[in-house]
Amino acid sequence: MKKRVFLFNEGEPDKDILGGKGANLAIMTQQGIAVPPGFTITTNTCMDYLKNNDYPEGTWGQVLESLSDVEKNLGKKFGAKENPLLVSVRSGARISMPGMMDTVLNVGLNKEIVEALSKLTGNPRFVKDAYRRLIQMFADVVCELDHAEFSGRLDSLKEEVGVQMDNELTNEHLDLLIERYLEVFERLHGKPFPQDPIEQLDLAVRAVFQSWNTRRAVDYRNYEGIPHDIGTAVNVQAMAYGNFDDNSGTGVLFTRSPAIGEREMYGEFLINAQGEDVVAGIRTPQPIIALKDKWPEIYDEILQLVEKLENHYKDMQDVEFTIEQGRLFILQTRTGKRTGVAASYIAHAMANEGLITKKDAVMRITPKDIEESLFPSVLWKDKKREIFYDVMDVNEQLADKSLVDITHDAETKDAYLIGKGLPAGPGACSGHIVFNSDLAEQIFKGEIEPDFEVSKFSMRDGKKVPSLILVKKETSPEDFHGMVASLGILTMAGGMTSHAALVGRQIGKRVIVGAAASGITLVNGVLSNKDGKSYKEGDLISMEIFEEGKIYAGELPIVIPRELPSSLETILDWADEIAEMTVRANADKENDTQQAIDYKTTGTGLARTEHQFFDALPVMREMILADNDEARNSAIDKMGVLQKEDFVKLFTIGDGRPITIRLLDPPLHEFLPSELELTKELLTQELTDSERTEKEKILLQVLIYQEANPMLGLRGVRLGLMIPKLLEMQTRAILEAAIEVRETGKEVRPEIMVPLIATQAEFAEARKVIDKTAKQVFADKGKSVDYQVGTMIEIPRAALTADEIAAGELGADFFSFGTNDLHQMALGFSRDDVAKFLPFYLETGILDADPFATIDQSGTGKLMEMTVELGRKAAAESGKYLKISICGEQGGDPESIDYCYRIGLDVVSCSPFRIPIARLSAAQATVRNGPVDPKYGKKVNA
Ligand code: ADP
Ligand code: MG
Ligand code: MG
Repeated sequence: MKKRVFLFNEGEPDKDILGGKGANLAIMTQQGIAVPPGFTITTNTCMDYLKNNDYPEGTWGQVLESLSDVEKNLGKKFGAKENPLLVSVRSGARISMPGMMDTVLNVGLNKEIVEALSKLTGNPRFVKDAYRRLIQMFADVVCELDHAEFSGRLDSLKEEVGVQMDNELTNEHLDLLIERYLEVFERLHGKPFPQDPIEQLDLAVRAVFQSWNTRRAVDYRNYEGIPHDIGTAVNVQAMAYGNFDDNSGTGVLFTRSPAIGEREMYGEFLINAQGEDVVAGIRTPQPIIALKDKWPEIYDEILQLVEKLENHYKDMQDVEFTIEQGRLFILQTRTGKRTGVAASYIAHAMANEGLITKKDAVMRITPKDIEESLFPSVLWKDKKREIFYDVMDVNEQLADKSLVDITHDAETKDAYLIGKGLPAGPGACSGHIVFNSDLAEQIFKGEIEPDFEVSKFSMRDGKKVPSLILVKKETSPEDFHGMVASLGILTMAGGMTSHAALVGRQIGKRVIVGAAASGITLVNGVLSNKDGKSYKEGDLISMEIFEEGKIYAGELPIVIPRELPSSLETILDWADEIAEMTVRANADKENDTQQAIDYKTTGTGLARTEHQFFDALPVMREMILADNDEARNSAIDKMGVLQKEDFVKLFTIGDGRPITIRLLDPPLHEFLPSELELTKELLTQELTDSERTEKEKILLQVLIYQEANPMLGLRGVRLGLMIPKLLEMQTRAILEAAIEVRETGKEVRPEIMVPLIATQAEFAEARKVIDKTAKQVFADKGKSVDYQVGTMIEIPRAALTADEIAAGELGADFFSFGTNDLHQMALGFSRDDVAKFLPFYLETGILDADPFATIDQSGTGKLMEMTVELGRKAAAESGKYLKISICGEQGGDPESIDYCYRIGLDVVSCSPFRIPIARLSAAQATVRNGPVDPKYGKKVNA
């Protein structure tokens, strides 16, 4: 017969069979830790039970057999009047899962046993407290009766008799309470409370099994991607009585601080209490350190236990314990949840203590831990119930960084969720709504008094500035200054690669895009949500952006990390030793580049040259709108001056690091005012004649340059080929800047990147102009520098003909995947319009993941794999190694980074703020996948 029940001290503990809780109870028991005896019914039994809604053959017999083992062990007997055994019935799947049945304590009590046990213990108050708890939990958990009916009875009784705390209820009060409970039970359930202990046990076990398929459990598994067929185990365990007397109690502890990771036990306990009393906040618990005075021996015992558990599990543990008449019992241990900061602190410390290896430490940190320690985040008190710390208290606490001590501050619930959007720029922020970029800048700079009272401020560069959240339908380059002035950006439309997402993320803002999909609207300066609540300019809202973009009305307490924790820095250095791909930054500006270098980037993988004109739109417009060659050339010359200045800065900061500069790739519409806005201005504004003529002239050009599909229009290399003067100007600016900086004694490694090519001829043509210009520059200056010319791979045809593009004299020196455009074109999804249907696709499972955030491996990935294969092979035939990188947004996404490693890329490039995450992910990819076969030559030092 199949073995379905295991005593805690029997067999090899296996999580898959016993569930997490059961396996850990067995491990602890077998390590000689004081765990009340008990047994586990296996997870497989749950799945078998659910098939017929009954125990598979032999199960119950094994349960009774194990129960009698426990009885012998303790010299007690379940269901007997003399020395009765009481048990808890606890669920526990392989993966910890809220939503399943809660625990029932004190199973095995009935009227007669209460009497008997009262006599035996001489403590009727305790026995009755246990009995009323049993009825209450059994009603709630096993019979799913309305628990408010029971807690209501408890509250009203306390009021009647004038006591505050549960433990002040006397013997007689408890008699009364039990009587009322039994009455409610029978009324709601239609049957009296079961008096047969075996029946109680049977019903409780069945309830655990059935809870596997409750709606909330199924929903939770769907949400977390937990398989539906792993089942839950049931643990039946002898009770330890923390509510026996004032020499008893219960508590929880973390073996290290879960908030900052320090190696100091952290936790709390309650005297004369049972089970979840500590967590439920019935009375205020005492900090664990108070045990030292009260029960010094137990305190020492706990210290030894901590040591033992950490040595075994090699990680921080979260432990439940109960003290019964001065004896310590352990009821649960599991890997403790911790903040991102604590995660790296603990991993680093454990590696130094020799508990784990450096590699283990690198593998133990998650991208989310880094996000949490890098970006401002909400200080949740209880994330599941969306309770957070009081804002004022937190601000004060933050001043001295002591996050650990605020556990018991008052709760506030002033803020509430009003909608969601795509999580484009991670972190959290609170600020005043502003609908207009000019206004945002003016308020930010203190140039005007806004119509609303500014109550929320934050520190920036040591100055106190208003906290603003820019809310727009979508953003364009004309909003850049408003975005800079704001803490966060919220847009209605747009996807993960829309302007707001790309630019906002790059300049380190909190960004939510595409909120319209959750029913949020922005009409006539009013932001409304689907429940009809509305918010105007100046109102405070908050955003929390990690896996989802959540929008809150009101203010949330935000923790702002000041710098990378030093333990994380060290772990990332370890990661760099392991990683085989290097991590570069998508950075166009000095401060972006500096930020990236602070995060130890190895270079710049993408400097978008058109972004330099976001600050100097007029020159760019002048070039686009010129109606004759002369005007255009003069505009291009002006651009050249600006560009060279910028490149000098980039090379100087870069200090010998390779810098990939992409030639102009402006979808022209991004640089032109919109037709609608111009028309509106012409119709509604009072303009002087000359202003009017000017605007009309611009409108005419806008109409001429308007494209039906600007993303597929006159952009990228096409523009440079049509206007070779642009290519020449940029090449000259790059190489002159490089030469100048090298003169100052610094190394320079310019890499010129041609955007948006579809054919070999396009690349070859561009390369000819670039090489010719380079020769001229070198002749003019009498000096030369090494430079490379490569290309973006972002049009499917370029991927399909990668061999042609990489081959021969005019072949590309490097490739860089522009995965934003590549996905746009492979999938036929317009980047700027995906918000209309992508949320729907994700919700209905038509798509597993947003392809603009995570590489679509099975589809678009084929193009990438083909590129690597064809390109490297052709380059090898020409005696070269083709360096390949990715510089699309997906380059900062851990799953995509893993994929890039597997297909043989040399470099990933991402926004500066993602660099720590990318460094970690690159190392983790190496460890996870092992070495990648270097088919066409060894990786270069990229
Ligand atoms: P959860 O999975 O929600 O933590 P548990 O099964 O751990 O549920 O039980 C809930 C509470 O009851 C915990 O505080 C636990 O320590 C306590 N508890 C469970 N079994 C026993 C027992 N045999 N004796 C005393 N307390 C128990
Ligand atoms: Mg527990
Ligand atoms: Mg592109």
